[in-house]
Amino acid sequence: MSDETFPEIRDAVRRLCADFPGSYWQGLDRDRTYPTEFVQALTKAGFLSVLIPEEFGGSGLGLGAATAILEEIHRSGCNGGACHAQMYTMGTVLKHGNAEQKAKYLPAVADGSLRLQAFGVTEPTAGTDTTRIRTFARREGDHYVVSGQKIWISRAEHSDLMVLLCRTTAREECERSSDGMSVLLVDMREAVGNGLTIRPIRTMLNHATTELFFDDLKVPVENLIGEEGKGFRYILSGMNAERILIAAECIGDAKFFIDRASAYAKDRSVFGRPIGQNQGVQFPIARAYVQMTAADLVVADAAAKFEAGQPCGTEANMAKMVASEASWFAADMCIQTHGGFGFAEEYDIERKFRETRLYQVAPISTNLILSHVGTHVLGMPKSF
Ligand SMILES: Cc1cc2nc3c(=O)[nH]c(=O)nc-3n(C[C@H](O)[C@H](O)[C@H](O)COP(=O)(O)OP(=O)(O)OC[C@H]3O[C@@H](n4cnc5c(N)ncnc54)[C@H](O)[C@@H]3O)c2cc1C
Repeated sequence: MSDETFPEIRDAVRRLCADFPGSYWQGLDRDRTYPTEFVQALTKAGFLSVLIPEEFGGSGLGLGAATAILEEIHRSGCNGGACHAQMYTMGTVLKHGNAEQKAKYLPAVADGSLRLQAFGVTEPTAGTDTTRIRTFARREGDHYVVSGQKIWISRAEHSDLMVLLCRTTAREECERSSDGMSVLLVDMREAVGNGLTIRPIRTMLNHATTELFFDDLKVPVENLIGEEGKGFRYILSGMNAERILIAAECIGDAKFFIDRASAYAKDRSVFGRPIGQNQGVQFPIARAYVQMTAADLVVADAAAKFEAGQPCGTEANMAKMVASEASWFAADMCIQTHGGFGFAEEYDIERKFRETRLYQVAPISTNLILSHVGTHVLGMPKSF
């Protein structure tokens, strides 16, 4: 069980999270505001820089440590969605940036003075079909001039930099549809009001997500990451870490629901006995535990392969899928176990229920994972 991994880190995360109880999250949720104090505390403790190598000022502990941190945050009733991208978005710079870009950005991301936690891929008309994105960066001298639109770009208002995927060659002019896209590092501090407009989207959970409008935004050519036209590959390579880390958050959510439900089922007495004595109540809790334990093993396997530098696209996808299904089953079970009290804000269950539902849609929806397994692993024909 992953509980045995990184016990000191887990313990330190739990102690930090104890300072941010349910009442803190309930207040933010009501007002749809950003957990600034929580993010600052995690940054100060060094928990957001564990994937950055020591030579760039991080602790270089790796993905296993990162999964332990995010799992504990979620098990404690907190939410890592406001800052998990500060951990992994820098991977695009680390893996594909040049020496100057790494030296310029990574130490500042490691110490938290620079927030690199916005990631702009999804567009309203392209959806999951990423090769159809239309945001275009045309080269003019020593700048790119960007126009287009993105949607669901989380934390854009709380980030100094954004990794942006855009077309630099029209799809029709490329040999392969995945060619002709490039990654630009956008400095949000200069961009907002100078060609970039951010419009927040209010959603069923407190997630600081936004819509972005680019109207001839100038981005210096030196902010191109890697080679022009190869951006889609760079983005794909960063997605494995994201999926594994979000799977770890789902495991944490599932544990939160199982902890709460089993405690309540032992405590709540109806018809003169604890409700947990009834197998109709007890078995769904046990089933949630079994599903979470199985998913946890898949997540650990994906993280181990990632750390060993082995291909892990399928494992990362499968981990995200089974973990998000385990957390959703546990969420539903937890509401049912609590009866009416599951709907009361002060119990935090309805909030976590709303929060964990996201992970079957973002960062990639379940159908697309099934399609990957059906075609890439099982060799069946592609439907698109
Ligand atoms: C709160 C939130 C935060 C987000 N944050 C970010 C972010 O920071 N950066 C970013 O770039 N994006 C972000 N996203 C976008 C997210 O990655 C997408 O919503 C997700 O990938 C699904 O894309 P879509 O919404 O366009 O759905 P669509 O592509 O329109 O799909 C709709 C549904 O149809 C299904 N579907 C589509 N095509 C097929 C097919 N061929 N076969 C079977 N089923 C299919 C999908 O599985 C899905 O269930 C966020 C989304 C949300 C809701």
